[in-house]
Amino acid sequence: MNNFGTVDYSKNKTPKGYVCSKCNSTDVKLWRQYNTFLDHIELMCVKCAGEAEGKDVSNIDDNGMIDSDVNGKTDQIGWLIPAVPTSEGDSFWGYTSVPQDGCDWWRKLKSCSDIKKERKLKLEEIEKR
Ligand SMILES: [Zn+2]
Repeated sequence: MNNFGTVDYSKNKTPKGYVCSKCNSTDVKLWRQYNTFLDHIELMCVKCAGEAEGKDVSNIDDNGMIDSDVNGKTDQIGWLIPAVPTSEGDSFWGYTSVPQDGCDWWRKLKSCSDIKKERKLKLEEIEKR
């Protein structure tokens, strides 16, 4: 993977190469390994990350936070961290160096492409009419 496409943090859109390496989900938050060379990074959606790390991710919230084993909430899934691409699309930000606009961009993405959840939201919308 050399370049996965440029990112405009002001838009709720993911670059072309921002795809779950296991189930090919797009337009969702992805996680990545913490300390891996870029060429070897596998992007994973919340579901696949949870499976890979043996973590219960069913309580994921809209900001991509799950209940931490220690206390409170965390955006890490086991050893996996949020994958926030640089705006040039040539690398990922380190966990502690993600700029605020990159952080906001990632949080605004959907947490998962869960059909059940989408259905529930649609039903709620219909009820509001
Ligand atoms: Zn996936």
